[in-house]
Formats: sequence, structure tokens, C-alpha cells
Amino acid sequence: MTDPDCIFCKIIAGELPSDTVYEDDLLIAFRDINPVAPTHILIVPRKHIVDNNAFSDEDAVIAGAMFLAVSKLAESEAIQDSGYRLIMNTGPDGRQEVPHMHLHLIGGKQMQHPMG
Ligand code: AMP
Repeated sequence: MTDPDCIFCKIIAGELPSDTVYEDDLLIAFRDINPVAPTHILIVPRKHIVDNNAFSDEDAVIAGAMFLAVSKLAESEAIQDSGYRLIMNTGPDGRQEVPHMHLHLIGGKQMQHPMG
């Protein structure tokens, strides 16, 4: 399931370039084009799921794959001990810019606390 107008679907299809660091049957992970930290990777399901609200029971295996990819990437980025932040922006208040659900894996520097 893809959306021809979706920028992440185009990356998954190989129609747009990306700095891909991991992929498997269910997802792809590539470096964010506008990184906010030394490690800033987007973990993106191959299936076009708009946001977390569109996540269905049959997608549970995708959620598992996303979190397994996080631990693999944390190891390959050598940030598993220093730590990292996972963010999934959803909808207008969440400031989601790309309507194809994705997890931001951000690390390599200490973050400000998100709760202020
Ligand atoms: P969000 O606000 O959670 O939807 O975040 C979307 C993210 O996608 C932003 O951090 C953008 O910098 C990133 N982004 C947009 N286009 C690309 C692209 N072509 N390659 C890599 N990252 C992208």
C-alpha cells in the first residue's frame, strides 16, 4: 500500500534518494535530511500508514519491527549506552510534517528535557 504523492513512499520506492542505514521487509530507516543531532534517523514502515491513529491490529508486527530496528540502530550508531530519544509526531498539535508515520531516533548529544 503506497501513496504516489507521499515523499516517504517515493523514498521507499527508490524514486527519491535517501541515506538509508537499515531496511527489512517491513520498514526502512534513513538519515533525516535536516538532522537535529549527530544521529537523527527516521524509521519508516514500508506500508503507507498516515499516522498513529491509522495504526490497526494487523499492523502490530510493524510496531514490533520498528522497536527492534531502534535497538539495532542504537548499536550500529554506538549510542546504546549514551542514550537517545524516540519521537513520533502525530497530527497538527504534534507538528507532524510528513503524513506517513515514522519514528525519529535522535542521539549523539544530550537533549533538553521535553517537559521543560
Ligand atoms: P515530522 O515532523 O515528524 O513529520 O518529521 C518529518 C521529518 O522528515 C523532518 O525531520 C524532515 O527533516 C524529514 N524529511 C523530510 N523530507 C526528507 C527527505 N527527503 N529525506 C530525509 N528526511 C526528510
